[in-house]
Amino acid sequence: MLNIVLFGPPGAGKGTQSERLIERYGLIHLSTGDIFRYHLKNETELGKLARTFMDQGHLVPDEVTINMLKDEVLKQTDPKGFIFDGFPRTNPQAHALDTLLKELNTSITVMLGLEVEEEELKARLTNRALSSGRADDTDPEIIANRIAVYNRETAPVKEFYAAQNKYIAIDGIGTIDSITERLYSAIDSKK
Ligand code: ADP
Repeated sequence: MLNIVLFGPPGAGKGTQSERLIERYGLIHLSTGDIFRYHLKNETELGKLARTFMDQGHLVPDEVTINMLKDEVLKQTDPKGFIFDGFPRTNPQAHALDTLLKELNTSITVMLGLEVEEEELKARLTNRALSSGRADDTDPEIIANRIAVYNRETAPVKEFYAAQNKYIAIDGIGTIDSITERLYSAIDSKK
């Protein structure tokens, strides 16, 4: 199996690039943000719980997120691999993912980190608010909060994969196509 973690701060382009990678490699795309938004929209119990955290730009608690992700992974029959987008976002999530994949006799192949500086991220998110309809994109204070949460809780997850020699940094500035090419080369070097 080919299992990729697509990593990077809010607004780095994970969603856009994921769509291209799943097409080329035949992977299943699991975006925890998208799954949570599905639950929000359908007003499920999980959605009601997640909303309070998401609207403020906080993380949904690990236990809730990990159980949801596990269900999604185990639901697949005979997958060729996964692209994890927006997960793991904390060290406990990274450990839980390792354990889960071990049970399936597989592991993470590579973590690709899209690197984009903060001013550019803020500009992209503010711009995205015009079309996304996402409550967490409209308020500059909430955007700042998400970036702070990223720096504090999520950025350290990179070290977990770097220690296993699995982290590759990708320059996230440039045209969408040129960034896709960088990702393809990085993946092909690890396959
Ligand atoms: P972005 O990368 O644009 O910040 P996402 O769509 O990945 O946004 O996530 C939106 C929100 O969903 C997060 O701010 C958080 O509240 C929640 N969320 C998504 N993934 C996770 C996760 N792995 N752990 C905890 N909360 C998460």
